[in-house]
Amino acid sequence: MEQLRIPGPTPCPPEVLQSMTKQMIGHRGKEFGQILNKVTQQLKQLFQTQNDVFILTASGTGGLEAAVVNTLSPGDKVLSVSIGVFGERLAAIAQEFGAEVIPLRFEWGKAADTDAITKALEANPEIKAVLVTHNETSTGVTNDLASISLVVKKFDKLLLVDAISSLGSINLPVDDWQCDVVVTGSQKGWMVPPGLAMVSVSPKAWQSHTVAKMPRFYWDFTKAKNYLKKGQTPWTPAETTVFALEKSLEMMLEEGLTNIIARHARVAELTREGVKSLGLSLLANKSYASNTVTAVRASQGLDVDKMRRILEEDHQIIIAGGQQTLAGKIFRIGHLGWVNEADIEKVLAALKIVLPQAGFGGGK
Ligand SMILES: *Cc1c(COP(=O)(O)O)cnc(C)c1O
Repeated sequence: MEQLRIPGPTPCPPEVLQSMTKQMIGHRGKEFGQILNKVTQQLKQLFQTQNDVFILTASGTGGLEAAVVNTLSPGDKVLSVSIGVFGERLAAIAQEFGAEVIPLRFEWGKAADTDAITKALEANPEIKAVLVTHNETSTGVTNDLASISLVVKKFDKLLLVDAISSLGSINLPVDDWQCDVVVTGSQKGWMVPPGLAMVSVSPKAWQSHTVAKMPRFYWDFTKAKNYLKKGQTPWTPAETTVFALEKSLEMMLEEGLTNIIARHARVAELTREGVKSLGLSLLANKSYASNTVTAVRASQGLDVDKMRRILEEDHQIIIAGGQQTLAGKIFRIGHLGWVNEADIEKVLAALKIVLPQAGFGGGK
């Protein structure tokens, strides 16, 4: 069987796939309402929050757009803390809707520096919100969100977090870390197909929402909240994906959040040590290397495209390349969601065979 080891979409357990064969039900009926209320409560547990949580029919990016348009007005100053492709995407969304984006960029492969964030907030007292990626999937780096949050809250700013590839896999206590809007996506650590974005909204975010003037219709949190009171979503939801989420949340709560986080840490450590023992080096420093995706440098003559092609053709293993300026320079192994040590052992065993076939160690 093919092994999909990219950082989303990720493989789904057979039980989750089976749950998707269920017949459609009325989305304004009692049965769907019960499912929606149950999964919303369960999501709050895994978000570690008392805040409102909404399930939107969208990929993760739709959730990011919802976070922006529900809390900001055109002309608002926002600080974009960016460490890679997805940090840039969140900034681009804010820019597109008329926010005045103040960029604070860090080298790709490094984590954000909290002192630099402090300086930027001191230098620009009018900043309203800080945009940050918890886990930067393009570089395999996890930001120290707890420390970033302390700084952002010292200045009493709104904190909008892209946690699409971390929530449910890496610890993110939304309330303890005072995150105002947090966005995740079903196809990352949740063992569910693409199609749902899940977002949490704090009381402070709701305050901003009441005065936020960016145009919004489909994403309007007020509509989501009013419909959820009736056990509904404003628009027809991706029901089948909600059924999948219902099953996956049951499995996740059975394993327990602490165990899930520990499993991701173990599997990530195995991945990092494994690629290093093959003679490769990691893009990210150990202190902030991600537990959901590992970025590996293409060193010693390694042709990443060729390696990925052979891995797929000969070993049925799919891994990711680098994005944008990192194309050809790194490859990425996804290890989030439905993954254990045995899956990674197989990838490492295949890599050992394929690396020399793809030029690695060829003298460069
Ligand atoms: C995957 C991902 C996104 C984009 O999500 P889509 O579901 O493709 O819209 C955004 N941010 C991060 C950190 C991601 O990993």
